[in-house]
This record gives sequence, structure tokens and C-alpha cells, in this order.
Amino acid sequence: MPETPPHTQKRIDDLFDRLNDLSWHQIGYPTNQCFDYSPLYPLLQHSANNVGDPFHDSLYRVNTHAFEREVITTFANLMRHSPDETWGYVTSGGTEGNMYGLYIAREMFPEAVVYFSQDTHYSVRKNLRVLNYRNIMIRSLDNGEVDYDDLRETIRINRHLPVVVMANIGTTMKGAVDNLDKIRDIFDELAISSSYIHADAALSGMILPFVDDPQPYGFDAGIDSIAISGHKMIGSPLPSGVVLTKSDYVGRVARSIEYVGAMDTTLSGSRNAITPLMLWYAFEQHGLEGFRGIVHETLDVAQYAVDKFNENGIPAWRNKNSITVVFPRPADTVVNKWQMAPYENFAHIITVPNVTRDKIDAAVADCVANPRTTT
Ligand SMILES: *Cc1c(COP(=O)(O)O)cnc(C)c1O
Repeated sequence: MPETPPHTQKRIDDLFDRLNDLSWHQIGYPTNQCFDYSPLYPLLQHSANNVGDPFHDSLYRVNTHAFEREVITTFANLMRHSPDETWGYVTSGGTEGNMYGLYIAREMFPEAVVYFSQDTHYSVRKNLRVLNYRNIMIRSLDNGEVDYDDLRETIRINRHLPVVVMANIGTTMKGAVDNLDKIRDIFDELAISSSYIHADAALSGMILPFVDDPQPYGFDAGIDSIAISGHKMIGSPLPSGVVLTKSDYVGRVARSIEYVGAMDTTLSGSRNAITPLMLWYAFEQHGLEGFRGIVHETLDVAQYAVDKFNENGIPAWRNKNSITVVFPRPADTVVNKWQMAPYENFAHIITVPNVTRDKIDAAVADCVANPRTTT
């Protein structure tokens, strides 16, 4: 292979420095930057590809399907479902996982109406448009949970049709968890005979399994599929996620493809073989107990941030079991400096492990000194 030309090396070095600085100041997005996957680097010399169903043979054998299956088993246990009855794969991220859940739902109930709250991630509306799936947006409560009264009354009007609910297990902006028990009570009350719940657990899917008093979130709470991000709480230089559903459901979308000798159950064709390894490695490295410790620390830091804001006269708050700290939007200079995610009148920071108490002190001081001036 030709050597790297000096000017090309300089571009790479400059980019590296720039990303170092930007990453250090990023506290508004839920991407854990504390990771080390260097033992996996030698594997980047292979054109590995996880095309096809990880639970089926493929003619393209330079893959990491065996490791991908271990990741799915780990998540099945975390999501309180028997691994034998769970199917899933490592996706490109939360959006693909949500798309997959809705795809299964549409194959099962093409005539259904999908209900999702105002606080639902923007990807869901796009997914619904791609799938051409009938849907209705439901109001949210102030804390970001779905408005259960609005949900009940809206379903009531359409109760002759199957119901699909996109439940948020940790909303993007406020970390709110929709109450799955209340949602299922609504189905019972209205005697809904066909229903499907997809859970969007991008961030909180890696929080709730590790806390002492979690809100209902798993298959034991009646969900049919769930999407969780890999690059958020776990952390990874390459975006990824997992989607899980029940094994029985997958036959509805499976097609056998002769060319790759694989079962075409996934949305994407060629798939990343490295991201499943990274997720596998993270669980090997930390263990579940390690993640429990990490999650508890992030929750402590979130509470530290709420207290720090409040001591300085800024009314910050967070939802139960959430590391998303919500506060009044500061000046744009502060939002940009710390890459805080703004939305209308508020902003948030998310205390993933790289968001230390020191950074919070500095960010709070900036917020105090630079309130937003509405002109
Ligand atoms: C981040 C996020 C997603 C989307 O994840 P991507 O990996 O960016 O596709 C979906 N839902 C929620 C609630 C999220 O926070």
C-alpha cells in the first residue's frame, strides 16, 4: 500500500485535535465517550460483514454472527425475556430498531393505527411515513410522558381497529418513561383485542435494568419489541443499536435469499460486523455488575447537576431514574460551547460517564452568567 502523504497526515492529525476538543465539551448528547476498544483493532484488517440473519447460516462466512448472538442473549436477559424465545440483531442505531419494530407491527396488523406521543423521537414520524402506516400523535404531559387520558380517548374513537403503541422508555428531551402498566390497562378497559407495543428504549434501556426501582420496561411488562442504542450508554466510536422481538413474529418478515445463502430478516443488507463485537467486548470488559456501578454513578452525577443548578437559582429537574437534566435554555453561546441540546425554552445535559462533576460546575457557572435574553 502507498505511504500516507505528509499533507494527508496533517489533515488527519488536525481533525484528531479538533475532535478531542469538541468531545471534551460535549455534555448535551447521551453518548458515553469512556470506552477502549483497542484490543479489537486488529480485526479491522478484515472485510467482515454480518449480512443476513445472525441466527442463520450465511455463505458469507467472514462474519461475527456468533458474537452478535451473544449480544442478543445478553439483551434478552436484560429485557426480561427468555433468550430461546427472543430474536434480534445489532442495528445501525435506534432509528433502524424503531423502524424494525414498526415493520413487524405493520406485517401483523396492517390495518392498525399507531399512537405515539408528542415527545417521541423524530425518527418515528419518518419511519411511519416510510412504512405508510396510519398514525395519530397524542399529547404529552409536562414531564414528557404520554398523556394517558388523551391516549385512552383517542384509542376509544378507533377501538374497532388494532392498536399499536410506540412507547417511550426514556424520551430524548426529558428522559420520561411512558407507563406500560397504564397503557395495558387502557387496552383492557377498552377491550382491545389486537394490540402491539414497541418500546423505544434508546438510552434508558441500558439504565432501567440496573436500578433498584425501575419503571416497567421489558417484555414482562407486555412489550412486543424494543430498540436500544449501543453508542449511547454503552459507548462506541461507531453508532449501533439492538432490536429485540419475539421469535414467533420474525417469520412474518423472513425471506430466504439464495445469493447470500442467508435469511433476509434484517432491514439492512450488508451489516457492520465490528459494532456487535464492540457491544460484546463492552459486556465482557465491565460485566453486568460493572454496568450497574456505572449507571448508579451517572444517576448520582445527574442528581448532583440538579442540585448544583438549584443552588444557583436555576430550576433544573429530572425524571425518576433518568440522567437527563432539564433546565431553562441559556444563551446560545453556552448552548454551543457545551453542545447542550436545546428545545424551545429549555435545554438539557445528559450525565453519561464522561460528564464529570467538574464539567457540570463549569457549565452551571456559564448558565448563571449567560441567561438567554429573548429579544
Ligand atoms: C437517540 C434516540 C433515538 C435514535 O437513535 P439513533 O441511534 O440516532 O438512530 C431514538 N429514540 C430515542 C428516544 C433516542 O433518544
